[in-house]
Amino acid sequence: GFGCPGYYASIRGTASDEKLRRVPKIGMHIVLLGPPGAGKGTQASILAEHFDVAHVASGDLFRKHLGESTELGQLAKGYMDKGDLVPDDVTISMVLDRLTYSDASSGYVLDGFPRTLNQAKALDGALIESGATVDVAPLIIVSPEELVRRLSGRWICKGCQSPYHEVSAPPNQAGTCDLCGAGLYQRDDDKSDVVRSRLDTYESQTSPLIEYYENQGKLVKIDGQRDVDDVTQGLISALGR
Ligand code: AMP
Repeated sequence: GFGCPGYYASIRGTASDEKLRRVPKIGMHIVLLGPPGAGKGTQASILAEHFDVAHVASGDLFRKHLGESTELGQLAKGYMDKGDLVPDDVTISMVLDRLTYSDASSGYVLDGFPRTLNQAKALDGALIESGATVDVAPLIIVSPEELVRRLSGRWICKGCQSPYHEVSAPPNQAGTCDLCGAGLYQRDDDKSDVVRSRLDTYESQTSPLIEYYENQGKLVKIDGQRDVDDVTQGLISALGR
């Protein structure tokens, strides 16, 4: 499995042995589940770097479209401002298209997608076509009070999307990213009334995915109310099973 030291070496084709080079590219396909504010973005970015796979965040893709004022961005804005989900058809085609980029060829950590049963089924369908499957769906669990606290104090880097918290994880220099030096901003949808509706949307539309992946034997519950490093360790051992 993913925990075996030789696993990635073999699928990346670094081994000189001819037989190993012919091992099909299995790849790593992880779906990170959890409510807004659970830490999916933070953990997905760490895991993607650790395993050298792509970090694909549907919210970041929408925000990129918004920033570039594309037609899709304009459409998505209406839903994002209210804390509603962008319709499945456009969301699914945007994400599935992103998964065909070369950086995703050895796998990906999905963050914020799927968020509906339709999206989960569309992902499964696309994976089956390429002879693959979702490997593990870790669910990061955090209490509702803690989610509200995290989201309402959140600041994000305009350049590299690194998250900060004004109380519990402030940058060294106010308003500036420690990692890339770009400015920080607060997401419009992290304002309190929209936070409420995003959490409601999660409960009604996304939480059914927990059962979906549980029925497939892919769900692993992770306590998200610990230090970032401890959560990462929990995730890495979950992926090694
Ligand atoms: P996020 O950055 O993951 O919190 O996403 C921000 C917003 O983008 C959400 O509140 C939704 O409006 C929209 N969005 C992101 N991912 C999806 C998705 N998989 N399906 C529908 N809407 C999404």
